[in-house]
Amino acid sequence: MELKDKLTILADAAKYDASCASSGVKRKAQAGGIGNAQGSGICHSYTPDGRCISLLKILLTNFCVYDCSYCVNRVSSQVKRAKFTVDEIVDLTMDFYKRNYIEGLFLSSGVAKSADDTMEEMIQVAKKLRLEHRFGGYIHLKAVAGCSEALIKKAGLYADRLSANIELPTQADLDTLAPAKSHLETETSMNSIKQGILESEAERKNSRRAPLFAPGGQSTQMIVGATATNDRAIMLKASSLYESQGLRRVYYSAFSPIPDSDPHLPPSPPPLMREHRLYQTDWLIRLYGFEINEILPDTHENLELDKDPKLAWALRNRHLFPVDVNTAPKEMLLRVPGLGETMVQRILGSRRLRKIRMIDLGASSWVKKARFFITTADDHQAARLIDSSHFEVKITEAPSPQLDFFSALTGQV
Ligand code: SF4
Repeated sequence: MELKDKLTILADAAKYDASCASSGVKRKAQAGGIGNAQGSGICHSYTPDGRCISLLKILLTNFCVYDCSYCVNRVSSQVKRAKFTVDEIVDLTMDFYKRNYIEGLFLSSGVAKSADDTMEEMIQVAKKLRLEHRFGGYIHLKAVAGCSEALIKKAGLYADRLSANIELPTQADLDTLAPAKSHLETETSMNSIKQGILESEAERKNSRRAPLFAPGGQSTQMIVGATATNDRAIMLKASSLYESQGLRRVYYSAFSPIPDSDPHLPPSPPPLMREHRLYQTDWLIRLYGFEINEILPDTHENLELDKDPKLAWALRNRHLFPVDVNTAPKEMLLRVPGLGETMVQRILGSRRLRKIRMIDLGASSWVKKARFFITTADDHQAARLIDSSHFEVKITEAPSPQLDFFSALTGQV
């Protein structure tokens, strides 16, 4: 098969994996080497539905011995199959990098013969790029489900980031759609990655020459909407993974229907807005001090699609508002719909110097939303509406500063 035909098949097969964003890696170009990785992340181009496109994002192969019913590459699928050789991927990466098409490689794979055989070949790609070509660009390797700990320890020496996909939010979901997979197996891989990172950090405290291990950390992907599992269960699983495995990111990927699919699968994808609301919730929990039980209490197990999760929480907790921007603690300002971390920092800085008035806040879309929940030195007109019967209509009519996908990634919630 021609190389370009393989590329067509294996790049298309890789598009379902959303966990390809990179961040947190700094590597300077070496004398005689090629490429570098910058700290602010190197793959920040996204397709309109949020998938990252600036890495060479391919599968080693779409042959797979597993039969996960939500996956287009499952063994029973009738798709055209292909497999790259190690050298083909190395040459493609170098060629695309030199032409400035890409900033790195995201390499995943079906499980061809065995998990270990597949992982071994993926490691060879990364090793060859790093050692033979002195490639300093970004490399993200997928940890193949069920591969040995020894191979994960090897992969981390060459990859910037490793990821093991949890796939579905609960074991019961896996039992229905991918009975050969288990959360335990994936979390064992995650744990090996975590241990590798911790050991490397400890060794590098003693010697800067000690090898780096997956310096961009680890991430995972969870498919949303392939089963009836609610948003509360999804966020509980994500939170437990952040806590137990030290993940950098959980990526939520809306289920994409596939041809000849299992009758257990829904015929249509969930609304993309659900994916977006999950990212916003993830951000609120990790960075804004919210608890899952506040955003997704037992009485509201799914996120509201027509309101961002912070607004939905504020509407259920109106007794906590309005807050006075001149005296409220930072934690409470962060809970005001429309106020993001940057704006809160600006408010805290300004109020040390003088009393803040509404006019000082400007007239941006976030102020139009936040003004219903705050009072300033000169104005609390909008906040008076909080207890009125048409408040919910008024506030949802206010322009939302956070309707695009990127705001969830940048924290404007
Ligand atoms: S193991 Fe991965 S590639 Fe294979 S069928 Fe399952 S999800 Fe698809």
